[in-house]
Amino acid sequence: MKQREIKKMIETLSFVRTSGSEEEERLVRYFEKELNALPVKTRIVPFSVPGYRTRAASLSVEGEEIPCRPIWGFGTGLAEGELYYLRRADSCVKRACRERIVLIDGPLRASLYDFLAEAGALAVIASCGDASAEGSAIDQRARAFTLKGKKKLPCAMIHVKDTVRLVHRAACRVSLRVEYDSFIATSHNLIAELPGESEERIDICAHYDSTFLSRGSYDNLSGALALLYLAEHFASRPHYRSLRLIFCGSEEVGLCGSLQYCASDELKGAVLNINLDMLGSLMGAVEAISCADERMEKYLSSFLKHRRIPASVRLGIRSSDSTSFTYFGVPAVSFARYAPEHIVRIHTPRDLPEQVGPAQLLQDMRLVAAFTEKAAAVDFPVPFVLCDKVKKESQDHMKRCRMPPFADE
Ligand SMILES: [Zn+2]
Repeated sequence: MKQREIKKMIETLSFVRTSGSEEEERLVRYFEKELNALPVKTRIVPFSVPGYRTRAASLSVEGEEIPCRPIWGFGTGLAEGELYYLRRADSCVKRACRERIVLIDGPLRASLYDFLAEAGALAVIASCGDASAEGSAIDQRARAFTLKGKKKLPCAMIHVKDTVRLVHRAACRVSLRVEYDSFIATSHNLIAELPGESEERIDICAHYDSTFLSRGSYDNLSGALALLYLAEHFASRPHYRSLRLIFCGSEEVGLCGSLQYCASDELKGAVLNINLDMLGSLMGAVEAISCADERMEKYLSSFLKHRRIPASVRLGIRSSDSTSFTYFGVPAVSFARYAPEHIVRIHTPRDLPEQVGPAQLLQDMRLVAAFTEKAAAVDFPVPFVLCDKVKKESQDHMKRCRMPPFADE
């Protein structure tokens, strides 16, 4: 893969591709075709994800219409009442939320939803965006956690610039209508096998879906292209451990693709996961995370130092597909190149082709290939072990986000 080809792929494949959408499938079919041309054998594993279609969404505040989107997966219908700005989910203001439409200045997380449902709120208005940035596009979100039997309140999202305006007004009455249809959509994992001499297998994954507002060049077309690079690299190179590449769908809505994979029999034989999420950013440095144990953390440090790559290395988990593997007992290593947030913010319209440097991405691809070569070799110096810290963090993450392993509906 040449820099020129990388540049072209970043330009042509950066399009919005949300979970279960036609565009998401279009991208996975592209990767399938490219792999088959190498030739590398592939299979596509479809899985169900929640699908939604908005019928109506309106927020009127004393005669003024404020643009909003429903947060899918919660309640529907009309809510009318007094607006209450919840500054913090503190027990001393729980009663103030009762019978009111509650405005929050950030996203709606599981614990905050519980607080509001228990408080007896009528509806919730969450906020997205950046008050100091250009534009006021509203993100489309869906519930990515289980309700644990809590009441379904109508929930909507507005831009934070409108949130600030509403707080300026002090007390006001609002009317919120949210109507949408739910159905079952299909997302896909694409799996490619690169057999080695051993039955032991390294599963390397990257998600290829994006969020609603983002063309996802950096998060995570970059990582998916790195998988393609690895396919090319290893297709003609002998390696001891078997390698499997997994292009995961629907990561952005709750690690759905990797969870589907890890909860199935497919995981059998995997000794290590390598996760690639956000590589090749023009700005910023590498972060390598040992989601395994301290020995792997030390190994990563010396490996990167030896290659003279400035990087931060830590032990722990990351909110990405590697956590599905560690949750299911497979140690992982996760690679990213973190661009400073004030330069490129993921999940926004600013995640664009120009944020990814083709030369930088090629360097990251080579780095990941070099690490994979080491890990796939018979004499890799460190055992693949999941330590208690990472195990616990993975369980806590899944519990906190109430992801599918904790589904109770
Ligand atoms: Zn990502």
